Amino acid sequence: MLSEVVVRMQKAARVATILASCAALGPGLAQERSAVTFFENVRIFDGKNQTLSAPSNVLIRGNTIERIAIAPIPVDRSLDTRTVAGGGRVLMPGLSDMHWHATMVRPTPAQMLSSDLGYTMLLAGAEATATLMRGFTTVRDMGGPAFALKRAIDEGVVAGPRIYPSGAVITVTGGHGDFRELWELPQSLGGTSRVEQLGGSMIADSPDEVRKRTREQLMQGASQIKLTAGGGVASPFSPLDVTTFSEAELRAAVEAATDWGTYVATHAYTPNAIRRSVAAGVKVIEHGHLMDEPTARLLAEEKIWLSTQPFVDLGGAAMLPAAQQAQMRQVVAGTDTTYGFVKKYKIKTAFGTDILFSKALAEHQGQGIVDLTRWFTPAEALAMATSANGELLALSGARNPYPGKLGVVEEGALADLLLVDGNPLDDIRLIADPENKILVIMKDGIIYKDVGPK
Ligand SMILES: [Zn+2]
Repeated sequence: MLSEVVVRMQKAARVATILASCAALGPGLAQERSAVTFFENVRIFDGKNQTLSAPSNVLIRGNTIERIAIAPIPVDRSLDTRTVAGGGRVLMPGLSDMHWHATMVRPTPAQMLSSDLGYTMLLAGAEATATLMRGFTTVRDMGGPAFALKRAIDEGVVAGPRIYPSGAVITVTGGHGDFRELWELPQSLGGTSRVEQLGGSMIADSPDEVRKRTREQLMQGASQIKLTAGGGVASPFSPLDVTTFSEAELRAAVEAATDWGTYVATHAYTPNAIRRSVAAGVKVIEHGHLMDEPTARLLAEEKIWLSTQPFVDLGGAAMLPAAQQAQMRQVVAGTDTTYGFVKKYKIKTAFGTDILFSKALAEHQGQGIVDLTRWFTPAEALAMATSANGELLALSGARNPYPGKLGVVEEGALADLLLVDGNPLDDIRLIADPENKILVIMKDGIIYKDVGPK
C-alpha cells in the first residue's frame, strides 16, 4: 500500500514538474512522456490519403498510436493522461528529411575542419533541437560524425529528431568528400586527414579498403552506408561529370552492408554513376538530377529508390566560385527533368533537402516541401515527406534503430505527430511557418511543443 502511495506521489510530482517546465519554456523541451496522450477532435492527414479524415479522436499509449476513432474513445483520465484539444485542426505525421547532415548544417567546411569537435557537436545539438522544432521528427544523416549526437538525443540529453546515421561518407582519392589540401599528398606523408579524423568522410581506393571503411561505420552503428559514386557541385577536386568508384569497389560496400542486414546509398548525379551503382547492388540513389530517360526507366524497373531534392535555385552554391555555380545551375535545370521522370515512370522517390553550412538556409527546411508543389499536389508532396520517406527508412532492416512504422498516422505506428493550425492540403505554406502554424510537436510519444490553439 505504502509503495502505491509513493508511486502516486512521484507521478504527481512529475506532472507538476512537467507543467512548470512547459510554462517556463513555452514551446520547449518537456521530455517526459505521459502514459496516455489523447488528441480530441482532429482531422487527420494520415501520410497517404489525398483527403482529410472526418473529425476523429486519437489515443497514444507510450510511444505508439493505439486507437483512432470517430466515436469518442473512453479514456481513463488518471493523472498520467494528457489531453490535447484539437478544435478540428489537422493532425499529421511528423516530417522527415532523407538527406541531412546533422553535424554540418551550422559550421562552414573551414570552421568544421579547424574547430574542436566538441564545439562542432554543441552546434549540432542546438541545430538538432531547431530541426525538431520545425516539425522534422526524423532525419536520415547522409554523412558526418552523427553517432554521438544520435545517442544523446535517444537518451533524452538533447531534444532532436530521430537520426538514421550513415557515419563517414566513403569516397575515393580526390572524390566528393575528400577535403584534403594538396600538400597532404601523397597519403603516406599526410597520414589520416583532418576530415577522416573527425569522421566526416573516409578515403578508400580498392575493394578491400572500401570493405574496411564500410565495416568501421557499421561497427559504430550506421543504419545505412553512403558512398560517393561521382563528383559533386562543391567538391574541390571532382567535377560533377566524373565517375569515381569502380563497380567492384561499390560491390564490396554492398556485400559488407548486406551481410550486416542493411543497404548502400550512393551520391550519384549522372547516368554513368547511377548505372554503375545499380549494377553493383546499390539500393538508393542520392540526388540523381542529371539522369537521362533510359536511366530513369532503369530505376523504375529495378525498383531503386531515388532520394532527391527540389533544387529550385542556387541556394548555398550562390556563395561558391563561378565554376561551381555553373555546376549548380546544371543541377537546378536537371531537377525539373528528374521530377518529370519521377512522375512519368513512377520512380519510388523520397524527399530530402541536403541543406549544408548555413543556419539561415536550415530555417527554411520546410520550404523544400512547399517547392515540391511545382510538380506535385500538396497531398503528394506531404506524402513524399512522410509516408514515402518512412518506407525508405525501413530499408535499414535489421539495422533500423527505431523499428516500427514511421511517417503515417495509423493504429500501431510510432507516435511522431504534428498538430497544424489550418489545412496543409489547402495551404501547404503552413508547413514552412512552423513557429506559428505547427502548434504541437510529438516525437516518440513525447510532446516537445504544445502552444495550444491561438
Ligand atoms: Zn549530401
